[in-house]
Amino acid sequence: VSQYDLVIVGGGPIGLACAIEAKKKSLKYLIIEKGAIVNSIFNYPLYMTFFSTAERLEIGDIPFNCLAPKPGRQEALEYYRNIHRYFKFNINLFEKVIDIQKVTSKSFKITTDKTQYEAVNVIIATGFYDIPIEMNISGEELPKVRHYYKEAHEYAFRKILVVGANNSSVDAALECWRKGAEVTMVIRKNEINSRVKYWVKPDIENRIAEGSITAYFESNITAIRENEVEIETPNGKITIQNDFVLALTGYKPDLAFLEKAGIKLSPDELKIPVYNPETMETNVEGLFLAGVVCGGMQTHKWFIENSRIHANNIIDHISSK
Ligand code: FAD
Repeated sequence: VSQYDLVIVGGGPIGLACAIEAKKKSLKYLIIEKGAIVNSIFNYPLYMTFFSTAERLEIGDIPFNCLAPKPGRQEALEYYRNIHRYFKFNINLFEKVIDIQKVTSKSFKITTDKTQYEAVNVIIATGFYDIPIEMNISGEELPKVRHYYKEAHEYAFRKILVVGANNSSVDAALECWRKGAEVTMVIRKNEINSRVKYWVKPDIENRIAEGSITAYFESNITAIRENEVEIETPNGKITIQNDFVLALTGYKPDLAFLEKAGIKLSPDELKIPVYNPETMETNVEGLFLAGVVCGGMQTHKWFIENSRIHANNIIDHISSK
């Protein structure tokens, strides 16, 4: 069994930031990533634009060149691949961590779908983009229902329903409408989410006001059938013709994975993992959290620019031990 000072679970931007700091302190580390490098960004919509400017996505003080005010997915993939070319990480791709268990007071056993490792410290930086929040309504299992949006072409000249009013929903609704889809939105609240990118919000509000995109506010989707959907609106239940449902209702971290490793979660619905905010160490000594996963169900709390610092907090603590 290979032994490490540190195993980092997840090769997203924050897992990589942790590896950079570990390398600086000459720790023997390994990143284990279940997909491609920065797999969440790889799975983003093809033509998305970040809400962050390029310099706020930087790690390891390596400049991120970008001509437009905000970078897109492809440029971010380019950047993080170059980060790996520069730092030459010790990283295993397409290997999934299944279980993390403390075996002695100073060592963890990390079991993957391929083998096992031992490490004195473990950082979980697994993000939140792998488990969609389901609506729990009838018909959700139909193949026409999508929890991830890639690009508009498939939806052109079709009737699509977009559930939600966050960045993902709004981007998808506008892009599909511009490629010829007939778009309806169903929105739980009475307005577009205030976190929607400031330059996109007026665009969607104007498309709704002019009637190009139909929006049902204070409404919920209640059933999905082969050719129609049912919506509960303030004026009663309606049924509309429908070809595709884009249920962009958010994502959640793998909380069961954290609990199995012994990490306690807050008893409320936010399920915030227990950790020391100065060191990012959880209630399990030697087991740390970094990046979006720290927020539990509060998936908007942490993002790249405000969680890059977790890497420094953790590695400073580990190397001072
Ligand atoms: P992630 O990037 O999600 O990385 C986690 C990694 O862990 C993944 O590669 C995953 O495959 C891997 N993993 C998970 N489980 C396992 C396992 N069991 N074993 C091995 N590997 C595992 N943030 C910003 O800062 N600015 C933005 O503009 C921005 N725009 C966004 C747009 C979209 C469409 C979405 C969905 C998110 C956006 N975010 C943005 C949030 C962004 O996803 C996070 O800030 C960023 O990805 C967090 O990095 P992370 O390393 O914590 O998690």
